[in-house]
Amino acid sequence: MSKLYPVNPSFAAASRLRRDDYTRLYAESVSDPEGFWGRIGQRLDWIKPPTKIKDVSFDPKDLHIRWYEDGELNVSANCLDRQLEKRGDKVAIIFEGDDPKDSRRITYRELHAEVCKFANTLKHLGVVKGDRVAIYLPMIPEAAVAMLACARLGAIHSVVFGGFSPDSLAGRIVDSQAKVVITADEGRRAGKHIPLKVNVDAALERPGTNSVETVIVVRHTGGAVHMQSPRDRYWHTLMEGQSADCAPTPVEAEHPLFVLYTSGSTGKPKGVQHSTGGYLVFISYTHEQVFDLREDDIYWCTADVGWVTGHSYVVYGPLCNGATTVMFEGVPNYPDHSRFWQVIDKHQVSIFYTAPTAIRALMREGEAPVKKCSRASLRLLGSVGEPINPEAWEWYYRVVGEERCPIVDTWWQTETGGIMISPLPGAIATKPGSATLPFFGVKPAIVDAEGTVQEGVAEGNLLITDSWPGQVRTIYGDHQRFIETYFSAYPGNYFSGDGARRDEDGYYWITGRVDDVINVSGHRLGTAEVESALVAHPKVAEAAVVGCPHEIKGQGIYAYVTLVAGETGSDGLRKELIAWVRKEIGPIATPDYLQWAPGLPKTRSGKIMRRILRKIGENLPDQLGDITTLADPSVVKNLVDERLIK
Ligand code: ATP
Ligand code: MG
Repeated sequence: MSKLYPVNPSFAAASRLRRDDYTRLYAESVSDPEGFWGRIGQRLDWIKPPTKIKDVSFDPKDLHIRWYEDGELNVSANCLDRQLEKRGDKVAIIFEGDDPKDSRRITYRELHAEVCKFANTLKHLGVVKGDRVAIYLPMIPEAAVAMLACARLGAIHSVVFGGFSPDSLAGRIVDSQAKVVITADEGRRAGKHIPLKVNVDAALERPGTNSVETVIVVRHTGGAVHMQSPRDRYWHTLMEGQSADCAPTPVEAEHPLFVLYTSGSTGKPKGVQHSTGGYLVFISYTHEQVFDLREDDIYWCTADVGWVTGHSYVVYGPLCNGATTVMFEGVPNYPDHSRFWQVIDKHQVSIFYTAPTAIRALMREGEAPVKKCSRASLRLLGSVGEPINPEAWEWYYRVVGEERCPIVDTWWQTETGGIMISPLPGAIATKPGSATLPFFGVKPAIVDAEGTVQEGVAEGNLLITDSWPGQVRTIYGDHQRFIETYFSAYPGNYFSGDGARRDEDGYYWITGRVDDVINVSGHRLGTAEVESALVAHPKVAEAAVVGCPHEIKGQGIYAYVTLVAGETGSDGLRKELIAWVRKEIGPIATPDYLQWAPGLPKTRSGKIMRRILRKIGENLPDQLGDITTLADPSVVKNLVDERLIK
């Protein structure tokens, strides 16, 4: 039995929704989606209000997804212009640099002026509605300005994470045929400089990139760059003399707002294309409800704008809701392990949203770096990106939030646009490791291997059986791959690619990616459960578990374990950990192999890439596939050298 944390009564007393509101609104949202989303859609400023709300078919032979289709709007007008009257002097963005001395506050009025000037800049460079613009910037306010300026013109942005290599950047430019690339001289990360402009120069040498007419360079660090005339232009010179007046271009609700590539945990990244109207309705509404947003909140999501979390919950959701959003350029452990908590105190952050990978890394360092800071301003915590191990959840709750702050564990994907399964903090009691219940309008289902929908307590593949407004509309330039990836395995449904379990309270537990499920003697085991058991051991900081060939069981369990700072692996500890998992879950989950891992292969967004570990566990080190989206490809060599099956 997992632990249940009831809703904090004082939090609930002041929150937007209680449990019976959730029950009532959820029932309405799934029984009458048109009525529900028609009403919620009115939260936006429409240039032409929609009369048609939903037109969707998930049938692979007639696939179409349209929301608010005859409506017209502009995203930047919703995020900026309409805030001016009430919130013109409110801070829209708090920028916190990599260097703790570097921070800046930008009001809605200032942001509006910058966006208009930059939109005029793009217009003068010939950017028109429908053009693609690649954004390869650090986490600086110019990234948000660039995104909003594209939206103002109806240009489609493709943000590429600043940590990606020239090859990854080139691949995305080729795929989207971008006309303009927006970058900076350099980025900063943990005191080091990242050569962004040099990377752009290298990317643009690659074949297929000559769609790019202009490269706009933000002078950020002041590092020397080579400017190639007439292609390369400085942001600040282009902005000189631009008017701060730029009428927003009305676009149809289904017009693409952006294309964004998935993080590549399971293979070649997919260019996920999102809409304008449905997307903005869904993400602004989830942002308001899941974070129980109030006018005076200081909201901080640590995600990079290169990921969907940065799009929906650093830039568009908060600004559309008139919130104050923090943009952080740095990392959790620079200059030291207290950085997150120092930033929280410095800016009086009240809502904090981060990823399990960061929580586990900080947990490794113990409680002292957290306790050095006050954190008294915090009232709500969030998690996203991977299943959060119950151990990490408890630590986040107890040490970071001092048992005062509810945790929202939010399950969603690049493809879903926004949060799909999550507690509403004033309404839903939480269980560590469970994303709990579906958001309004979201209809999850669990199917077995044959595709039969399971009722009640169940485990299997997670589907969504009906559309929601924030859903992906296609894979850019490859509609066939879109249909095949998401709608063919279980026709009539959206297939998430994740596995889940539903418990006796109807709560959902994400068990990991379906591709990663291990089948031991006919029992299906999700990676999350075994990993969480390992992480629950006081000496274990992180663990990744994969299946490996096993003569008797079909598949065996191969575990990679990173120990907490100061511990070293020994045969005794290996035996202890194996016995520990056996005791925690049962004999079926006993690891057959346990390898010490000084580092685990992770994507740039911090997700463990198990397909690589599977190949190492299968003794196929020459078949690792694409490892270009790894944050640190060098960890792979050690794991290959030390592998236990050769
Ligand atoms: P690719 O699709 O290219 O393999 P990716 O799936 O890692 O990449 P994202 O869209 O960034 O790219 O990640 C979504 C995935 O992250 C989900 O499908 C799920 O596996 C995992 N995830 C996100 N949030 C949670 C959560 N709260 N609990 C469990 N898993 C989560
Ligand atoms: Mg995915």
